[in-house]
Amino acid sequence: MKMDDCIFCKIANGEIPSKTLYEDQDFRVILDLGPAARGHALILPKEHAANLYELPEETVGAAFILAKRMAARMSEKLGCDGFNLMQNNGETAGQTVFHFHIHLIPRYLGDGQRIGWIPGKPSGEELEEVRRQIVG
Ligand code: 5GP
Ligand code: ZN
Repeated sequence: MKMDDCIFCKIANGEIPSKTLYEDQDFRVILDLGPAARGHALILPKEHAANLYELPEETVGAAFILAKRMAARMSEKLGCDGFNLMQNNGETAGQTVFHFHIHLIPRYLGDGQRIGWIPGKPSGEELEEVRRQIVG
């Protein structure tokens, strides 16, 4: 299903032009307009799903297999030194477009980019508490 007011639905389905790297029946892979690094791309399913939880499991599987293939191809072609995959769910997590996508971010030695977090220092008890909360 497509959502009328969703920009990634329009891009994925070719209604809005994009710098497309790959396309098949289910996905389009495009260059990001605000790249973190040279070659930063996005995997877009053609079916609308706001986030990971809404995406059917078979599409999740196919999207990550495609991510692996794209990362391998892009690494070879771009000669990057590393690769980040990113996938944001929810505004708090940095999601700004509410149509599921996977970021493919080539990394270059000395690119000055920072993708990460400030590591916490939880005690063993705190780790155990959160473990129990998740599995309980
Ligand atoms: P998010 O923050 O939701 O994980 O990522 C959204 C990404 O989409 C951002 O990296 C942003 O630069 C990119 N983006 C937003 N609008 C467009 C667009 O119209 N075309 C393309 N190619 N990228 C877009
Ligand atoms: Zn959409």
